[in-house]
Order: sequence, then C-alpha cells, then structure tokens
Amino acid sequence: MQTAVSGSVVDQQKIDIKNIPVHVEVHTPSANKAPEYAPRNRIYVRAVKGLHQAVRRYMGFVFMGLFMLLPWLQYEGHQAILLDITEQKFNIFALTLWPQDFTILAWIFIIAAYALFFITAFYGRVWCGYLCPQTVWTFIFIWFEEKIQGTRNQRMKLDAEPWSGVKFFKKAATHFCWLAFSLLTSLIFVGYFTPVADLFMQFFTLEASFWAVTSVLFFTLCTYGNAGWMREIMCTHICPYARFQSAMFDKDTFTVTYDEKRGENRGPRSRKDKDYKEKGLGDCIDCNLCVHVCPTGIDIRNGLQYECINCGACIDACDDTMSKMGYPPGLISYTTEHSLNGKPTRVLRPKLLGYLLVLLAVCTAFAWTLYSRVPLEMNIIRDRGALFRTNNDGLVENTYTLSISNKSQHTVVFDLSVSADASFNWIGPHQVSLNGGETGSVPISLALDPYSTKERSLEITFTVQQQDNAEVQLQQATKFFLGNR
Ligand code: SF4
Ligand code: SF4
Repeated sequence: MQTAVSGSVVDQQKIDIKNIPVHVEVHTPSANKAPEYAPRNRIYVRAVKGLHQAVRRYMGFVFMGLFMLLPWLQYEGHQAILLDITEQKFNIFALTLWPQDFTILAWIFIIAAYALFFITAFYGRVWCGYLCPQTVWTFIFIWFEEKIQGTRNQRMKLDAEPWSGVKFFKKAATHFCWLAFSLLTSLIFVGYFTPVADLFMQFFTLEASFWAVTSVLFFTLCTYGNAGWMREIMCTHICPYARFQSAMFDKDTFTVTYDEKRGENRGPRSRKDKDYKEKGLGDCIDCNLCVHVCPTGIDIRNGLQYECINCGACIDACDDTMSKMGYPPGLISYTTEHSLNGKPTRVLRPKLLGYLLVLLAVCTAFAWTLYSRVPLEMNIIRDRGALFRTNNDGLVENTYTLSISNKSQHTVVFDLSVSADASFNWIGPHQVSLNGGETGSVPISLALDPYSTKERSLEITFTVQQQDNAEVQLQQATKFFLGNR
C-alpha cells in the first residue's frame, strides 16, 4: 500500500490536463456560405483551333452522320436497323435477334465495357472527350451559341447586359435552335425503335401514336436539358464512369497533364523578354486560355482532376500560346506520370495486356455465338392430359405439340421428323411453313406397337430442318411413354 508518498513524487506523476474546446458545427445546407452549395458558375467555353479539336470535330461529324443515317438504310425491303421493342425483335441488317438471343446482346455490352476499360487504361478518358454523346451534343450546342451570340467575351457581355430586344432575340434564337436540334435528334433516336419514315410523317401530320409522341418529347427535353443546361454537371456529378475511371489509371496512362517543372513559376512577360528564366519564371505566361477553353471549367495546372474529360482543348490553346511566344509546344500534353518523372513509359504492361486478352476472348466468344447461331427455335410441349393412351388399333400413342419459331427474316418451310430405336407411326403434318419471325404450333402424335419393345419408356429425338438448307436444323430429345405392362 502506498500510504506515505512524498509530495515531490506525486508532482512527478501528475499528468498535464489541457482544456480542449469542443466545437460542434451544425451543417445547414441552406447556408450559401458553404462553397459546395454555392450556385454553379456558368462556364463560357472559348472556341479553340488545333489538332485535337480538329480530330474531335471530325470524329463528332462521323458519329453524328452515322447516327442520323443508319435508321434510313433499307435492307431487303425493310429498315436495316430496327430495334422493335413491341414486337420483341431487333433487326440488324440480315440478323434478327429475339428475346432468346439475349446472350448476343450481353456479349455486345461486355465487349463495349472491356473496350472502354482498355482505352481508359491506355489513354484516359478519351471516350468522354471525343465520342461520348454528351460531349458531341454539348459541343454542337456551344457551336449554336457561338454563331448566334458571339465569342466567349461577347456572350459574357450579353449575359451581363440588361434585357433588350437584341438580347431577347439572340437568346430566343439560341434556344429555338437547341430545341429544334433536340427534336430532330430525338425523332432519329426514336426512329431506331419504330419505322423512322412513318414516324417523321406521322409526327408532323399529328397522326403519331401517344407513346411515339411522348417518347419523342421526352428525349427532346432530355437532350435540351443535358446539352443546353446541365452540360459539365452530367460529367462531373451524374455520370458514374467519371467516378470509377481512376481505378483503371496507372502511372503509364496517357492523360492531359501540365508540365509543372517547365511551366512554374507562371507569370506574364513580354514576348521579347528572353531572360524570363533568370527572373525565376517558367514557360507558363498565365494567360488562362487553357481554363477558358475547358468545357468542364477546370484549371489543368492544378493537377489531374476527375472532372477532366481528356478532350485536349487546353493542349491546343496552350500550344497556340507557346507558338506565339516562340516557346516549344507541349507545356500541356498527353503524357504519363512516368514520363513526367523522367522514367520510361511502359505501354505493354500486365494491366493493359490483361484487358486486351479478355477483350479478345470476349470478341471470339461473340463471333462464335453469332456463327453457330441457328435461326430456329423449338420447344416440345407434351400433352398435359395423359402421358400415353391406347388407340383403337391397340397402339400406344403419345401426343406432343412442337412450338417452332422461324427466327429468320424470310418464309421458310421446315421438315419435321423423329428418330428412335423403334419404328413409330407419325400422325400429323411432316412439314410446316412459317413467315419470318413467326412461331407456329404443330400437334404431332406418335404411335407404337406395345409388343415391339419391353421398355416402359423410350428416348426419342425430334428434328426440325429447313427444307432447302440442311445446315439449319435443330434436334431436341424427349421421351415416349408406354406405361406399366
Ligand atoms: S482540362 Fe483540358 S483536357 Fe481536361 S476537360 Fe479541360 S480542356 Fe479538356
Ligand atoms: S494556356 Fe499555357 S501558358 Fe496559358 S495559362 Fe494555360 S498553361 Fe499557362
């Protein structure tokens, strides 16, 4: 027991106690002070010319051209690409996909996903910057804005001005063009799901069905809202791809990057000033053009940010500035972290090869599924009333219904037959003719002398074969019951 402890020992064992103020901050989303709840600043994108913007524009033209043209193509008298949801069949040129062909659609989605993973691991978010419909449509809307309201500075000035006749006209013309373009592209889009020529005709003569009109108006409003108003919000807050793309990045991924070592310290200077490095300046003249041209409104000089869609607009803007200043291009460029740190970039690396191998495997599986696909489906339905019955001739009879679907686009005559270790009497049609996409039910009865076998049941196989093409055939096994004897 420590009853006689001296005062000095007690002093040494004292623990300093500090008063820690506890401050609990109550978060109120309505308070405008918090920057994350501050109203979004409108981004006035400045037009820029350069290699990457030319590539993006041409890719956009090709994408938009294909999108607008494809539904108008005809193939053997019908719309070449028609994803008919009400009829539950997708026509893609000579191929017709039915709900049973879901695996083919699944392969297409898996291929698209792995192609995206592969491209992202290799070249960052270039899909977003060059081909994503959100980007393509947004740049077209910005083009309308620029043609009607003028350059970035003119648009900012116009927005700051009080309302006038000229301002109203320019704004109204811009929104009219946005809405007209949205309506046109929505009609084309819905035309992938319903005959496009009829849709156009019926929509403008007010004869289109309720659902066709509703779909067109819905997609018109979505396009107008996304490309006209939401723009970069889609890419930065809504699109899930922006959030998980970093999982595919590594130090060898090409991303749009500002060369900080070369650019800093940034600052303005005269074009004739050749001694700027001695004054401690880097190559960045702080003109802010890279920020003005950015469709997501970020400053790439702050490092890699998830908002960046790798569109390369800031590269073109900066290269232009560098050329005017007489400096070498590439202050902002597509480069890798390894390259920036003076290390070699490994293009062929396990991660990329892994994605490529899976992509090749999935493409092969898809090609095999397509190649081995038989444009024919058969289901055998047994008579639910009785497994077997004995007819007036003393033969045992089993009754089946063959449900046959012609999954091709043409009328086809199918031959029907059965094979087994016994000789059956076939009661019913030996052929059936079905139109393209039609499903027919064929009732068949098989009869057998019960004394021809000692078995209580026999394995039998029905065969359906296209009359003029032996390669299109399907076999399905079932049983023939003779009962207890
Ligand atoms: S930072 Fe550059 S590449 Fe990234 S979105 Fe902005 S302009 Fe495009
Ligand atoms: S465009 Fe180039 S020079 Fe101008 S601020 Fe951006 S990085 Fe600096």
